[in-house]
Amino acid sequence: MAYNDNTMEKSELIRHAKPFYSEEQILELETAIDLATSAHIHQKRKSGEPYINHPMLVADTLVSWGMDIDSVLAGILHDTVEDTDVTLEQIENLFGRDVAFLVDGVTKVSQARAGMQDLVNYLPQTKDNLSKLLIAVGQDIRVLIIKLADRLHNMSTLQYMPRDKQLKIARESLEVFGPMADKLGMGRVRVEIEEMAFSYLNPPEYKRLKILLKKRLGKSTRKLGEVKIEVANELKQYNIKAEINGRVKSVYSLFRKLAKVDGNIDDIYDLMALRIIVDKKEDCYIVLGILHGMYKPMINRIKDYIATPKPNGYQSLHTTVITRNKQIVEFQIRTYEMHDYAERGLAASFQYNEQKTSKDYVKKRKSSTLPSNMQWISQLQEVVAKLKNNEEISADQLNIDLFGNRIFVHSPKGDIYNLPEGALPLDFAYLVHSDIGKHAYSFRVNGKMHPFDKPLQNGDIVEVVTRKLSLPKQAWKDLVTTTHARNKLRGQLSQTDLTQIFTNAGNIIRLKASQRKK
Ligand code: MN
Repeated sequence: MAYNDNTMEKSELIRHAKPFYSEEQILELETAIDLATSAHIHQKRKSGEPYINHPMLVADTLVSWGMDIDSVLAGILHDTVEDTDVTLEQIENLFGRDVAFLVDGVTKVSQARAGMQDLVNYLPQTKDNLSKLLIAVGQDIRVLIIKLADRLHNMSTLQYMPRDKQLKIARESLEVFGPMADKLGMGRVRVEIEEMAFSYLNPPEYKRLKILLKKRLGKSTRKLGEVKIEVANELKQYNIKAEINGRVKSVYSLFRKLAKVDGNIDDIYDLMALRIIVDKKEDCYIVLGILHGMYKPMINRIKDYIATPKPNGYQSLHTTVITRNKQIVEFQIRTYEMHDYAERGLAASFQYNEQKTSKDYVKKRKSSTLPSNMQWISQLQEVVAKLKNNEEISADQLNIDLFGNRIFVHSPKGDIYNLPEGALPLDFAYLVHSDIGKHAYSFRVNGKMHPFDKPLQNGDIVEVVTRKLSLPKQAWKDLVTTTHARNKLRGQLSQTDLTQIFTNAGNIIRLKASQRKK
């Protein structure tokens, strides 16, 4: 982790940054450090250290993620406008509009978050603030990336906070910032945030699982080492250049997975996986074929996330095989490029060494470089466009998944679904599949019957009982809360009347036909 030592001197940050930015940019960086240092001079962190350590470490993280200079400058300055006498105008004069814009965006995300507990009640007075926030974020995704670096450092100094604050921040990190990192495809950051948050939320369970994981790995590491050598030799035969590494499951993801398999760790096959990284996409498939020639694959565990990337843009081939000595091993096969994206996500598209202007970013985001299925970004941009034209938007539309209070519920099979707090069973049904919503007949939650109008709770296991003949009813309009469910339902209700007519007509025709036969 980047924060073993929780201080960062100016000289050290400059040394880290120097290889990646131009001389002129490094000078700007020095100016920003000096400005922030003098602005925060009388402030201390809860830990007692000088406040400036915090923005310094945030900026250092942004350097390590490969962010452009404007993001790094905004990282240094991110708390100045909110907490010191420095103004946005000053920042704009010294570092340009883009940096001022980013600092402003980060400040607004913090402010808006403070009032997010009940967005719907909160809207009327502050729609304006929130609009500004969404415009800021919608225009520049770097705001969120800076916010994540900020949150990471705050998490790493959580031990100095009182317990109630620790819990609040940890919970928020797990519910908002973890998913945010995930949506940005920043896998490594997501894991860091989740691990720290979970260790505060449930210390005994965190410790127990950590020990359990260590014990298990101790047993399998040596055997896995043998598999690794075997595979490496085989790949050489085919002239495939590959790097093979072990990856260990994180404690929090083990915790989530255990909940799906009734706590039985023997049912988890990917405590440790082998990752094979190759140069070309074609090689991924060749490697997959070679592995399946060597070992017996578990057919239902082969996943092609290259042809069908995950919604956040993640790409890899996954397969789980049974080795000759009956060991179950998961392999993840990807190119270096896919690997970089899996680790750094969208941050990977802001390369520092290419020195882009801000116009390029805006263009970039609108064009094809964003994974086309990162729908929420376009959703956000739609909302922003509406706001700009002063069109009415519903609270629900504003409650973009990133910021709402979310709950996690499970299907009986253990799939996890993410819903806004207060969501009703039908919201879940429509989220799983619009046909499941359409034919929902009743609900069982945690094994018990559950009425349509009773909100779901975090951790619920929700089973939708469907009947083919059961169809949506007008009254359901009051029994859904998400835009998604509402839209699907509206479409189905207008269709149902027609379907009913056709079905009836069909029945009559059949009836007549059968009568004729007689
Ligand atoms: Mn901060």
